[in-house]
Amino acid sequence: MLVKQVEMVMAPREPHYVGDGFRVHNFIPSAYGLTMQRMDPFIMLDYGAKFYFPPSPSKAKGVGVHPHRGFETVTVAYKGSVAHHDSSGGGGVIDEGDVQWMTAASGVLHKEYHSEAFSKTGGDFQMVQLWVNLPAKDKMSTPKYQAISNAQIPKIAVPNNGGVIEVIAGDYQGNKGVASTFSPVYLMNAKLNTGGEATFNLPADYNTALIVIEGNVMVNGTEEVPLDHFALFTNVGETFTIKASEKSVVLILSGAPIKEPIASHGPFVMNTRQEIMQAFEDYELGKFGELED
Ligand code: MN
Repeated sequence: MLVKQVEMVMAPREPHYVGDGFRVHNFIPSAYGLTMQRMDPFIMLDYGAKFYFPPSPSKAKGVGVHPHRGFETVTVAYKGSVAHHDSSGGGGVIDEGDVQWMTAASGVLHKEYHSEAFSKTGGDFQMVQLWVNLPAKDKMSTPKYQAISNAQIPKIAVPNNGGVIEVIAGDYQGNKGVASTFSPVYLMNAKLNTGGEATFNLPADYNTALIVIEGNVMVNGTEEVPLDHFALFTNVGETFTIKASEKSVVLILSGAPIKEPIASHGPFVMNTRQEIMQAFEDYELGKFGELED
């Protein structure tokens, strides 16, 4: 197998707020040429680097009711906790280590806020929100919600007490992840001890990247990727290693490109402009259901 090399290491850009509760650095699709086409099937990635929110007991911070159609939203919580509700009846609290995999598909309304408990105490908040595109044939399928607690996520030991690989989606050395996906997607957290070294094997043509959530790592023995940085891999080669220079957490994402036309406007990602117009029309007509603010 050939080594999958790092194509580029990217620093987080200036943060912006989504609502008043999510302070994020966007990587996909606006930074450094990480377009929807380049990162297919990953069409959006907002990284909320660790940030302290003071208590806000009278009003939870977050983002109010809004629609989505045509893709999935995946939230990985590292610090703090998020409460979520959607118009298909999905909802719950995502705490540290948990993952929420929401398939918006034909359309949902949802809202995302800091949880009541977190709003009372305040504290460090850190998360990733990733949008995974759906193949055309699944874009209008029924919405679905996978609440994945950390306890449910398979944890594969890294040799020499190096840490664990948490398999959210895809598989690691034959150990299948817990999330079901519509197209082949890998999503894993490498939680490594100092000196811990893990090897990954992923198809050459899959679009592959990582983010250093905590600590500092060396990739393939040569590329340093510091805290909060995003590393994009080339589409040549299958295997790479991550070695933790200190205790580290790394999110690894890799997916088979869907290779279909992308028409995108705000919260809707479809294949044609006509389908985007239809999404606006359906939203105006109340076809996304109901959800109280
Ligand atoms: Mn949303």
